[in-house]
Parts: sequence; structure tokens; C-alpha cells
Amino acid sequence: MITIIGAGPAGCLLGILLARRGVVVDIYERRTDPRRNPAEAGRSINLALAARGIRALEAAGVMQALSPALVMMRGRMLHESGKADQFNAYGQRPHEVIWSVSRATLTTLLAEAAAGHPNLRLHFEQQCVDYRGSGQLRMRDLRSGGEYDLTAGRIVGADGAGSTLRQAMSIRHGFTVTEARLPHDYKELVIPCRNGQPPLAMDALHIWPRGGFMLIALPNADGSFTATLFLAREGGTTPGFDRLDSPARVREFFSAHFPDVLPLIPDLEQQFLLHPQGMLGTVYCPQWHDAETLLLVGDAAHAIVPFHGQGMNCAFEDCRILDELLQSSPADAFAQFATVRRDDCLSIAQMALENYGEMRDTVRDPRFQQQKALSLALERAHPDRFVPRYSMVMFRDDIPYSVALQRGRIQQQILDELTGADSATPVPGADVLIGSRLTPIGG
Ligand SMILES: Cc1cc2nc3c(=O)[nH]c(=O)nc-3n(C[C@H](O)[C@H](O)[C@H](O)COP(=O)(O)OP(=O)(O)OC[C@H]3O[C@@H](n4cnc5c(N)ncnc54)[C@H](O)[C@@H]3O)c2cc1C
Repeated sequence: MITIIGAGPAGCLLGILLARRGVVVDIYERRTDPRRNPAEAGRSINLALAARGIRALEAAGVMQALSPALVMMRGRMLHESGKADQFNAYGQRPHEVIWSVSRATLTTLLAEAAAGHPNLRLHFEQQCVDYRGSGQLRMRDLRSGGEYDLTAGRIVGADGAGSTLRQAMSIRHGFTVTEARLPHDYKELVIPCRNGQPPLAMDALHIWPRGGFMLIALPNADGSFTATLFLAREGGTTPGFDRLDSPARVREFFSAHFPDVLPLIPDLEQQFLLHPQGMLGTVYCPQWHDAETLLLVGDAAHAIVPFHGQGMNCAFEDCRILDELLQSSPADAFAQFATVRRDDCLSIAQMALENYGEMRDTVRDPRFQQQKALSLALERAHPDRFVPRYSMVMFRDDIPYSVALQRGRIQQQILDELTGADSATPVPGADVLIGSRLTPIGG
């Protein structure tokens, strides 16, 4: 029997994976049942789903049901000030795409799939308020307000970035969790359909990079888009959220920096001032498990910034790997999980931070564009050795994040050495550099 706290993407998916193998699972979630209640607006309204997440969803048997809700994104559409829009494909094979999915649809579908297993029980409006060691939880029934003790046995904490279980464990074991908050916050805005038509190209993730800040937009299945503004909390040399406190200032900011977006959001000022301002950060937790009684997974263990679109994908990969470990070595699966996943989760945390600079800034640099084209050419010439880092992270679920980080560093060095040349064709010397510095992948 396993008790999971949190019916977010990780909690639900893990529950399904376990229940499919006959494990008795109880999931406790503080929110209301998504199958009965309209979606809560708030955090990221749509998410990019990629290979690692898809593999785990397939293992849980839910991919087929989810497919109709997915919107394919083949690349980035750059909207630079004063320039023509430019489309850059993410990969170079037909399957090298990512998918936009509504968080609400995903959560509801996972809850439905979970509820379909007779050995899995979902308990909504039940908040975990404390972990007291040895499988003992303190719970609050949010309907009645009453508290009760729960003897849970083996517990998985999938309770997100602000995890109560992580905090309780850190107090019990006296370790320090670092929550490294970015100086940038985010705000989501809906770009509606125009005359029933999508207002932007549907097959791309749109980026308006502006150096110190950026706006992005992902398509929704109904043709609308969810835009997210990433901006400093406090303005300085670049604008900040602190100054956008009136309808006039919001309009002025968009007119100055995103004039092409302004006509796409008729109720911009209203949305802007009404929608919550979310914070972003990385959670570094030195200990993910308490013997074999409690284990943290997903954002509870290792929340990351969203700039590689991997938080949920990584959380899903956690679930798949934990499920495999619970089968292969049930007696010490929690300890093994904490050991095998640590480097990979630290690596994606770092790559996600690095990607912020790339998305809001470097992507505009001609040298970046040149290196991007060259790396695709090198991949065509050496598909077993040179795979662009973005592709390793997003399209290759067989390459661990830590390997993507290491190989990515070597590849960047090679690209830097080669881009004295001004063409996207591999220059003489590339073969030697690649052959001597990069081993065949998986070899
Ligand atoms: C702006 C933004 C954009 C993002 N974009 C992407 C993207 O494109 N691709 C991607 O892969 N990831 C993305 N992410 C990251 C992704 O949202 C998270 O990594 C993912 O939701 C983690 O899933 P989780 O189940 O671990 O945690 P959560 O989604 O946070 O779920 C935790 C669940 O636990 C419940 N809970 C919390 N505390 C308790 C408690 N005490 N008792 C009971 N229940 C509790 C919560 O209500 C919630 O349902 C983005 C994040 C942000 C902020």
C-alpha cells in the first residue's frame, strides 16, 4: 500500500502506474475534484509536453486518451522588435516536436484515469499539514475543518514546490532546503481567438525576446493562446512588475515593448491587473527520503524554473523511474531513487536556468543562430555522437539529463571553436573534434 500526497501531474501519474500493477494506492489532495469543478486559473495554464513525459504517460496507458488535447509545436517563432517574424524548427526529424497541453485538461484526464482503478482511491479537499515520522501524517479535512491522524505506511510526497512534507522532513532531520527565487516573476494572459480563428501560427511556441525580459505564448486546442510575461519583480535598468500598477502603465508598457501583441488582447489591462503574479525559483533539497517511509518526487523534491519546459516532464520521468525501482528492488526503492535521480535533477535545474538567458536574449544573437544551424548540420553528419543539447533534453528520453549537460558542454566548446567560419556547413576539423571528444551516445 502506498499513500501519495498531492494529485497534481506527478501524484496522479504515479498513482496510475502503481495501481496498474495491483498496488493499493490512496491519494490525498487539498484541492477540489477537478472532474467536478471548473479549472482553477493561476499557475501555468498550458504546458509543453516532451519525450520524457510522453514515455511515462504511455507507460501509464493514458497517452491515447490525452492525444486529442495536444497541440503540436514544431519550433520557436521569434517576434523581434523591428524585424520580420522568424521561425526556427526545434529539431530536424518529423517526431522532433513538443506538445502544448492544457494543465486543467491534463489534470482532469489523469484524475479520471486514476479513478478508473478499483485499487486506487482519491481523497479531495484533504490537506496534509504535518509528517510525524514512521508513516504518520496529520491531515485536515477542508470541508469540515477538522484534523485527524493518518497511519499511511509508505508515503510519496508529490505536493509540489511548496511541499509541506519537505518542510516537515527538513525540520525533523535538521537539514536546510534552499529555495532560490529568481528576481523575475511571471503573469499569464489569455490571447483569444480572432473571428473564430487562431491569432498566431498554431504550430509554434511564440517568443518576444526583449533582453532582460520576454513574453511567450503557447497554443491551446481551441485556437486561443496562453501568453506568459516574464519580467523583473522590481524595475531598474529594465522594466519591472512593480511599475505596472495601473491600466495606463500596462498599456504604455505593451505599446513600447510588444506593440504587435496589444491588438491581440482586447482586455489586456483588465487581465493584467486581475491575474496573479507568480514567482519562480529552484528548490535544492539535500534529502529526498526518510528511510523507506517517505519519498519526495516532482516539484516537491526539485522544483525548477520553467524555461526548458521540463518541470512536469521531469516529474513524470521521476514517476516512471520510481515505479520501475519499486518493482526491481522494493525494499530500498526510495533510497535508490534519491541516489539515481539526484545528478539528473540538478542537471535539468541548471539547464533550465541557462535556457532563460537563451530565450530572452541569446536567441536574438546572430552567432547563436549560426551555431544552432551548425549544430543541426553536425547532427546530420554525426547522428550517433553530436545531438544538440535541446534535442537531448526534449526528444531523447534515453539520454539522462546529466549526460545531456556534460555532452552539451563539450559540444558548445566545439561550436565555439568552429564558428569562426561563416557558414552552417561543418568546416574541416569538425570530424576530428567530434571523433576525439565525443564518444558514441550510449556507447
Ligand atoms: C509558469 C510555469 C510554466 C511551466 N511550464 C512548464 C512546461 O511547459 N513544461 C513542463 O514540463 N513543466 C512546466 N512547468 C512546471 C510544472 O508546472 C511543474 O513541474 C509540475 O506541475 C510539477 O508537478 P507536481 O505534481 O510535482 O507538482 P504540482 O503540479 O505543484 O502538484 C502538487 C499537487 O499537490 C497538491 N498539494 C500541495 N500541498 C498539499 C498538501 N499539503 N496536502 C495535499 N495536497 C497538496 C496541490 O494542490 C497540487 O495538486 C511550469 C511551471 C510554471 C510555474
